[in-house]
Amino acid sequence: MPQDPWYRDGLHFECTACGNCCTGSPGVVWIDDDDIRRIAEFTGRGEAEIRVMHTRPYANRLSLTEYANGDCTFFDGNLRRCTIYPVRPAQCRTWPFWRSNLESPHAWNNLGLECPGVGQGGLVPLEIIETHVSEIDV
Ligand code: SF4
Repeated sequence: MPQDPWYRDGLHFECTACGNCCTGSPGVVWIDDDDIRRIAEFTGRGEAEIRVMHTRPYANRLSLTEYANGDCTFFDGNLRRCTIYPVRPAQCRTWPFWRSNLESPHAWNNLGLECPGVGQGGLVPLEIIETHVSEIDV
């Protein structure tokens, strides 16, 4: 974590629920055993089923799977919403406050091209941003 980050005064962000970050281009979304257990409890499905239907091995870890069009397999395309929102993995929960997105004001502003919530809504204070950044290294 930088000593005196450029976002020291906080950043404006409010999710518009557009679904862009759950759909479109393929990517890696890390998921672990605790996530799988929580998702199984939340959905009432077995952990083994969650593993087979919604995860894939990637770089010695597990990632969520996507449909051929890049949409997350937990995303409901008709309702345009995440079906496991209360128990979504840390990488989803901490978006867009990832180390990679906060490298510079330029990186953050560019993010606004794909995430319309960037720069909108209330001010997210530094303490909350740093809590998110420290939760997962992406
Ligand atoms: S892309 Fe941004 S505004 Fe759209 S759903 Fe994701 S976090 Fe929310």
